[in-house]
Amino acid sequence: MGTSALGPRVLLRRLREVMAEPVAAQKRLDKIVQIIAANMVAEVCSIYVMRPGDILELYATEGLKLEAVHKSKLKTGEGLVGTIAEQAIGLNLPDAQHHPAFKYLPETGEEIYNAFLGVPIMRGGTVIGVLVVQNRTRRHYTEEEEEALQTTAMVLAEVIAAGELREVASEVAADVAHVRSHHLRGDSLAEGVALGHAVLHEPRVVIQNMIAEDVPREKRRLEDAVAQLRAHVDELLDGSDAQRATEYSDVLETIRMFAHDKGWMNRLREAIDTGLTAEAAVERVQNDNRARMMRTPDPYLRERMHDLDDLSNRLLRILTGAIATASRTDLPANAIVVARNMGPAELLDYDRTKLRGVVLEEGGRTSHVAIVARALGIPAIGQAEGLIDLVDTGSPVIVDGGTGEVFVRPSTDLQRAYAEKVRFYARKQAQYAALRDEPAILRNGGRIELNINAGLIVDLPHLHDSGADGVGLYRTELQFMLATRFPRLAQQVRHYSQIIEQAKGKPVTFRTLDIGADKVLPYLRQPKEENPALGWRSIRMALDRPALLRLQLRALMLAGEGTPMKIMFPMIADVEEYKRALEVVELEKAHLLKRGHVLPAPLKLGVMIEIPSLLWQLDHLLPIVDFASIGSNDLVQFLFASDRGNPKLAGRYDPLSPAALGAMRLIVEKAEKHGKPVTLCGELGGRPLEAMGLIGVGLTSISMVPSAIGPVKAMVRTLDREKLWKFMEPLLASPLHTIRPELMEFAQRNGVVL
Ligand code: PEP
Ligand code: MG
Repeated sequence: MGTSALGPRVLLRRLREVMAEPVAAQKRLDKIVQIIAANMVAEVCSIYVMRPGDILELYATEGLKLEAVHKSKLKTGEGLVGTIAEQAIGLNLPDAQHHPAFKYLPETGEEIYNAFLGVPIMRGGTVIGVLVVQNRTRRHYTEEEEEALQTTAMVLAEVIAAGELREVASEVAADVAHVRSHHLRGDSLAEGVALGHAVLHEPRVVIQNMIAEDVPREKRRLEDAVAQLRAHVDELLDGSDAQRATEYSDVLETIRMFAHDKGWMNRLREAIDTGLTAEAAVERVQNDNRARMMRTPDPYLRERMHDLDDLSNRLLRILTGAIATASRTDLPANAIVVARNMGPAELLDYDRTKLRGVVLEEGGRTSHVAIVARALGIPAIGQAEGLIDLVDTGSPVIVDGGTGEVFVRPSTDLQRAYAEKVRFYARKQAQYAALRDEPAILRNGGRIELNINAGLIVDLPHLHDSGADGVGLYRTELQFMLATRFPRLAQQVRHYSQIIEQAKGKPVTFRTLDIGADKVLPYLRQPKEENPALGWRSIRMALDRPALLRLQLRALMLAGEGTPMKIMFPMIADVEEYKRALEVVELEKAHLLKRGHVLPAPLKLGVMIEIPSLLWQLDHLLPIVDFASIGSNDLVQFLFASDRGNPKLAGRYDPLSPAALGAMRLIVEKAEKHGKPVTLCGELGGRPLEAMGLIGVGLTSISMVPSAIGPVKAMVRTLDREKLWKFMEPLLASPLHTIRPELMEFAQRNGVVL
């Protein structure tokens, strides 16, 4: 068998000759399988191509019965070939017939072959076919043979993707996918509706030359390109974009680490040694990496491999002279960016005046890009599987971030309906904008304080465009979630200083780290827990690891030196816990004073009320806090023992019920009794009807998503609070499951704008 280092090179040279011959596509494939079989001293070589409906069809063979060509078909996951396609992983089996996945196809006559080596044919991370060699003897193919077959598979990927195989298709599979309308359902990552035109985030890098003519020259090209890449990453890291520097420098640091990784470089050089051009070598190594990425269940590793993938793409672009991501191209006025996945920094690279929506094939609600999309107020959808194959740059697309639906090339009727929806939304926005500088005053007088919830620097402009009074909840964990390791003191100080600076004198309530449950730090290994929402999280973790909390408090107080500052603690379950948090603050204050720093003044410390046990501790707790904030997301989840993230339970219990509203009223009454300000910062406060219910139990301050400020203010300005109180009094004493219909009716009857 041709196992010398020259083996693959000879094979590639022969393949190049065949590819240059002016013959019909089927003939070319027939020749290719002959050449591979001869070069690898295999008795069988077969190519299976992925057809619509996830069917792998035998396209060419040397060794199996020829009548099976275009007849033998396997579904993805079926037989050895289907398993390779499904898992994007090669199989090297000395005795294939006894493998549990083996499926005998009588028309092929393959019963006499025992040894089997198959590899996926991949393109852009997708399996588009399978390449197989077989021998009669029971033997294990060597690693070199596996490598050679993988390299060959890559060259074949180009032949298949070049499209010339369409003419040999056994059924007409003209590219109907690209002219038809499609309706996909993914997961909603960020609300809102957008109509626009698709922009492929990563315009495909087309590799023209796969096979090296001069191996030393290709190595030099690789070295040059890698040097450029390293310089480019350094430049990004040392760049002056302050926002990117604090929020994303860790991601770039990881990329820099990969760029200097010897193992990666060696794999690239070895791939060139097999006879590939520098760019083909990058793609080859990238394919291996993507296949591993698909298989690893570890989210942290997946993120790191994604970083490596990102780096390979940058290198490919340098080698081929292709443009970077579409953010640097001339965008259409209504761009809907479509990507397999992307990092938060990449999304921020797009011109925001043209960006209308984002659709990802991967990406979950808690992914970093989703957090940024929500912060930017751009509708976004994740898990839209297969979308990239269905769109071209410029395809009309509708994104419905509310339902998670994506429509590709929608009918004119649908476009019209959605355009109306968008116009309606825009009209409403214009009305709210007109209220921006108006105070949130109730119909009969009395002011309601409206604040925004925030968690990123990009949220801060919303504080001013919405006309909100301040930031009622700054979720500090988001900076930690976007980083690849714990942000250091200086990074934290810089981040908090920027927030304070951008708030331009409006108050900001910082909440200390609230991690755990769905808020995962990729670099923090946490023990697996049965009930993470009830587990070792948030303040519990902070008090057990006081160094972390101390560092954060130090950073906050340094950022707020000499100015007013508000800090609150999440997930407090009893008075003792709050006192322990205060002790940590005292330690930090002493530490800073000793070093000659000035403390924030005044420094107000508060408690989040989101665990029901506190309802019976209020008389002890309120005297020792400066303020309280109701975390209704958690409070309601724990009151009803109903997971806030479980879609099956969504809507089952209503916060507009005597039970939940009663709990909030109790908190408000106790706060009044102890003369302490109380606010609410759960999602509840951002929905006008719910906000009305909250005012109905006495709240005078609410914090919400920035986009809700306008609608809630419009409601407040049309509400007669005394009338509402009277109306709600008996309802709160009732045993009803919900008082939502009654509140709705009240609003309608009294002209309250919802
Ligand atoms: C809450 O629980 O209501 C809250 C505001 O905190 P988070 O949503 O961040 O848990
Ligand atoms: Mg909470």
